[in-house]
Amino acid sequence: MTTNHISLILLPTLKCNANCEYCFENKKDTTLSLESFKAILKKFCNYAMSRNISNISIYWQGGEVFTMKPEWYMRALGIINQLCEKEKLSIINHLQTNLIGYNRKWNKVIENMFNNEISSSLDFPNLYRKTQKGTTNLFNDKWRKKFSEAKLSGIIVNVIAIPNAETFKMDASAFYAYYVEEVGVKNIQINTPFPGNPFNSKVNPQLVLENEQLGYFYIELLDIWLKEGLNSGVSFSPFKELIDFFMDRRDGGSSCIWSSNCSDQFLCIDPNGNVSQCDCWVTSYPEFRFGNILESDDLSVIMKSNIRDRFKQRASQMIKTGNCVECEYLAICHGGCPVRAYSTYNSLQRKDPYCESYKIMFDNAKKAAIKLSRDKYKCKQNIHNLKPSERKFTDRVFD
Ligand code: SF4
Ligand code: SF4
Ligand code: SF4
Repeated sequence: MTTNHISLILLPTLKCNANCEYCFENKKDTTLSLESFKAILKKFCNYAMSRNISNISIYWQGGEVFTMKPEWYMRALGIINQLCEKEKLSIINHLQTNLIGYNRKWNKVIENMFNNEISSSLDFPNLYRKTQKGTTNLFNDKWRKKFSEAKLSGIIVNVIAIPNAETFKMDASAFYAYYVEEVGVKNIQINTPFPGNPFNSKVNPQLVLENEQLGYFYIELLDIWLKEGLNSGVSFSPFKELIDFFMDRRDGGSSCIWSSNCSDQFLCIDPNGNVSQCDCWVTSYPEFRFGNILESDDLSVIMKSNIRDRFKQRASQMIKTGNCVECEYLAICHGGCPVRAYSTYNSLQRKDPYCESYKIMFDNAKKAAIKLSRDKYKCKQNIHNLKPSERKFTDRVFD
């Protein structure tokens, strides 16, 4: 690790109240006991401290977290706070939920543990997300109802949107309007589908989107967001991060997909104690698990597994084998996501299947950033040319 931060993706349950067709989780009734949680947290924190890391993020996801009881989380939070105080650690908790099981009983947990901000997923149009016995329409109706209830309780719900082939048949402005104007979301992250879970016959390679269509969609969407969202408090990820990167060379992404090496920054633990790279690996590809934290006293030993070495070496192999070495965006993309590559090509050594659409997106974000920088510079020059008495108000633009 090169930073003072590490993220744990924790699956406290494999149970889910939905039945999404593209789900890569291996859904079971297994749920983490508080006793096991305490043991996992202690070993994880010992591992972090042995590497001089004191800042930890825990991403709570499932299965579906709201199939458990709020009381369980309040007690888990007590365990976390106790350990943080004793070891002088900072732990920030994040929640990913499908929202279907949300009710006001969760408000205390969301306020105390997640700072009143959670993340959920909503696709447009919805082809794959379904309730257990229901349809995509029923899923959407329930989701919208729960979203409104959460909003009324003062909870910020950020949304992950996964485009599909039908998304491309509509104008990107319809996509933007659906999330921002119709649903009322302010923070949207675009993600891409991949055919994880070889045990689910409905998850097939057809899920992988066509790069040219996706790239064109990114171009249109970035354009709309720049016109309508950028200065209106709407955040569309990864556009916002890319613009920041190209304008100021700030970190290029909130997404693990473009981290320099996700194996340095994330690890995932399921309710049985299995340790893997992330949630898809731990449930869909058991042969890629690093070990079991409940069966070992020391996470450092598990993290030395040969399997993890394959993840660690991927980024440098991508360069050596010539996959990405000549790419001008190597410093931001690093070959992309291992699970997207593996689930599509059955190889860790291949570059991300969305490579070509990333390049289109990077090109376009770079052009937009250059234009924004020029506009900003011109504006600064105009301010500079004003008399001091005229500058007072406009100056604030650049505070
Ligand atoms: S909500 Fe998540 S875990 Fe549940 S079925 Fe859908 S994708 Fe799978
Ligand atoms: S394998 Fe992909 S999704 Fe998983 S942590 Fe790495 S970059 Fe993220
Ligand atoms: S955009 Fe493509 S070629 Fe460039 S670093 Fe990413 S995966 Fe490699």
